[in-house]
Amino acid sequence: MEKILEVKNISKTYQTPKGEIQALKNINFKIKSGEFVSIIGPSGCGKSTLLSIISGLEEKTTGEIYIQGEKIEGISTQIGYMLQKDCLLEWRTIWSNVMLGLELKGIKTKESKEYVEGLLHKYHLYEFKDKYPQELSGGMRQRVALIRTLAIKPKILLLDEAFSALDYQTRIMVTNDIYSILRKENITALIVTHDISEAISMSDRVFVLSKRPGTIKDIHKIEFDTEERNPINCRESPKFSQYFNTLWKELGVDGNK
Ligand code: ADP
Ligand code: MG
Repeated sequence: MEKILEVKNISKTYQTPKGEIQALKNINFKIKSGEFVSIIGPSGCGKSTLLSIISGLEEKTTGEIYIQGEKIEGISTQIGYMLQKDCLLEWRTIWSNVMLGLELKGIKTKESKEYVEGLLHKYHLYEFKDKYPQELSGGMRQRVALIRTLAIKPKILLLDEAFSALDYQTRIMVTNDIYSILRKENITALIVTHDISEAISMSDRVFVLSKRPGTIKDIHKIEFDTEERNPINCRESPKFSQYFNTLWKELGVDGNK
């Protein structure tokens, strides 16, 4: 598989009134096209900072980001970003919410409208297009937020604790949903989560960050024998609890240091 994202030597030091805070130190990794990678690590170790830097919203102190071999500076249209809050605009219908990104970029063409309509049909939201966000469940709102992000056809999706505001049952269903949509659309995903199970269930690899300043401490390859693996059925594999124990120990040790 071809390499889609390369993060080279990224470090980040925040300047604050109380002095410098080094959030990240020498982060290096490559991600293949279509791969799903999760990043876990102790609270405050720089996970959100790393995603913000890749998205172009936060400046890096050192290092470079490459997408398909091309160095990117600032915000790239190839990258979509999903946060914990779905950030849907309550006064806009579902349709005008999902069209927002295209509107902002001034590319609301016939083709782009048809593409978004197709996504709404495919992912069972078309009949809700004239409703308002508050009329939808948390899971459906998250799916709308995803479609709004997919509308601009990103190659890479960054998810920062995107499911953590949902209750447990909904979270499991929504991760399953979103996983299958992203696989179908052939999107590469970089997922930040504090939930070890979520990381294992969603990913091909899990990166473990050390406490601040965050460095990559370890990389775990996640593989199941399950046919047509998805985030729900892989939880039943005996390998799931083995991965869980390994990652739990690794995080626990670091958290106690
Ligand atoms: P995580 O997402 O892993 O919990 P963050 O990336 O949010 O961690 O933060 C890493 C460190 O950088 C923390 O110590 C945090 O307080 C600090 N930090 C994050 N954003 C800023 C900012 N805008 N200004 C100053 N310090 C920040
Ligand atoms: Mg965070």
